[in-house]
Amino acid sequence: MPPLPPQLHVFVRDWLSANNILLKSRDGNVLIDSGYASHAPLMLALLASERGLHGQPLAKLVNTHGHSDHMGGNAAVRAAYGCPIEFPEAEAPIVERWDTKALLLDYADQVADRFPIAGKLRAGTTQIWGDLEWQMVAAPGHDMGALVFFNPEYRILISGDALWENGYGFVMPAAVDPDALPATRATLDVIAGLDARVVIPGHGDVFTDVGAALERAYRRTAAFEADEMRVARHALKSVLAFNLLAKRRIPVADLPAYVQRVGIFRDLNAAVLRLSPTELARRLVDELTRAGAIRIEGTDLVPAAAAG
Ligand SMILES: [Zn+2]
Repeated sequence: MPPLPPQLHVFVRDWLSANNILLKSRDGNVLIDSGYASHAPLMLALLASERGLHGQPLAKLVNTHGHSDHMGGNAAVRAAYGCPIEFPEAEAPIVERWDTKALLLDYADQVADRFPIAGKLRAGTTQIWGDLEWQMVAAPGHDMGALVFFNPEYRILISGDALWENGYGFVMPAAVDPDALPATRATLDVIAGLDARVVIPGHGDVFTDVGAALERAYRRTAAFEADEMRVARHALKSVLAFNLLAKRRIPVADLPAYVQRVGIFRDLNAAVLRLSPTELARRLVDELTRAGAIRIEGTDLVPAAAAG
């Protein structure tokens, strides 16, 4: 059996834009996730390319969850194709009232254009996309309303940010959401029970060594369970590295004021880390620099890849 059926196309993107997955069928083409708002022109170009729709219509856009790197391009796709958007039911209310804190938009210094929801995807139900049956599986943790999509025939899991080849999307510390980390572990158990053969993650390449990825994810979860500060630092490092990709540079001198002003930094610091803004900024820069995610160029922080 080939790893992926021919009607399934994966556009592997980067860390600023989630992967886009296109499922083609004569009954209607379906796109899963739309990337970050500022990358919408590139996503529309990929979607229109020969590997993409190549002049065919798009019947539907669906999302794994409501983070800016997955739904930031929704409004642009809808404007280009006039297609309805279907969204995980558990998270639809925060999109419908455009709760920018719960959606981690201005609260995390990120952006997305507002879009209407035409239909809701409910955990426990099945959808036919690309002539394949997809089970809607609840995957709370990184995002409490997230879904992953599982095709039992090919044992393909479209995992969003619930499982990557090396880890998963950041989780809120218990002081902010006591359910997040227990839900993360429970979701890994659910994913392990699916016995997927191939995973299409929200970020990074498609992978088949699912057991090894789960093992790494469980190890990370155990480390998080042992140390809430680690959970908070990991969340803030993830957000800062992401925002640096979007902004391209932030003056080092501005960072203490930035972590005071942007809600997620201010709140996680107040609830868990309890550092001065200057000390928080210094530690985030130290750890991200050591991890090779960012570097200092002159007076600015820049993403490591862009600086190379
Ligand atoms: Zn996410």
